[in-house]
Amino acid sequence: MADCIFCAIANKEIPSNVVYEDDKIICFKDLEPQAPVHVLIIPKKHIASLDDVCEEDAELLAHIMLKVKEIAKILELENGYRLVNNCGEDGFQTVKHLHFHLLGKRKMTWPPG
Ligand code: 5GP
Ligand code: ZN
Repeated sequence: MADCIFCAIANKEIPSNVVYEDDKIICFKDLEPQAPVHVLIIPKKHIASLDDVCEEDAELLAHIMLKVKEIAKILELENGYRLVNNCGEDGFQTVKHLHFHLLGKRKMTWPPG
């Protein structure tokens, strides 16, 4: 999608630090890491948010979830991690292309702010 920064990253029009990639998804380091390990997992297909997924995205969403543990292993997050999706205004979503934050290598707190 035009004017989408994450589509541009997926299409390699904007450089990023890629951790994992296949035909459906790409995982790259966050520009402003909130933990020693902070990557974003995105579908290559433009979907605006988790609130915009439809039935035909079921396989893609399952693919993302099933890849999390593989990416966590690549990043050596053997002690655990946090997977976050910010959705919409109240969820403080700033980039309108579906993405999951994978954070690790520090003790997380709960509840989130
Ligand atoms: P959100 O707030 O939408 O859940 O998360 C967007 C994330 O994208 C933020 O953590 C922000 O640091 C990251 N981000 C925004 N622009 C870029 C970029 O151009 N490159 C990378 N690698 N991360 C970005
Ligand atoms: Zn996009």
